Amino acid sequence: MTKKILIVEDNHDCCEFLAFLVRRLGYEAIAVHTGEEAIVRAMATHPDLIFMDLGLPGIDGIEAAAAIKQHPDTAGITIVALSARSEETWKEKALDAGMTTYLSKPAPPAAIKETIEKFINKDSAASLDRCSATMPINTPQLTGSVI
Ligand code: CA
Repeated sequence: MTKKILIVEDNHDCCEFLAFLVRRLGYEAIAVHTGEEAIVRAMATHPDLIFMDLGLPGIDGIEAAAAIKQHPDTAGITIVALSARSEETWKEKALDAGMTTYLSKPAPPAAIKETIEKFINKDSAASLDRCSATMPINTPQLTGSVI
């Protein structure tokens, strides 16, 4: 069965890029743009991994992650914080909320791939070479200070 990855990111370009990458690597990508949606979709779909942006409108990534980790049905899901906020206090908050690790944005595709493979057991992930070779020219890159 294809492993599912929930991507929570309010920047639509970044979100699409991540979803594109995740699908290229051979996983199912579920993309949402708010913390509220993240909680609802986590409960409904039980993803194998969640990439959680911290800066979100409404409830932020920390609160959404805490809610997911506090619910018995979703407590076991690995959540990876993804944020341009690199201050130690934010990393601590992310870990306190139950997130497993923290990736600073912009996270290069290789770091995303490595993180996925570290937390999801998968035999045959597609190669990143193939991914970059087929990436559309106008694909937004994860650069700049998108929070
Ligand atoms: Ca954000």
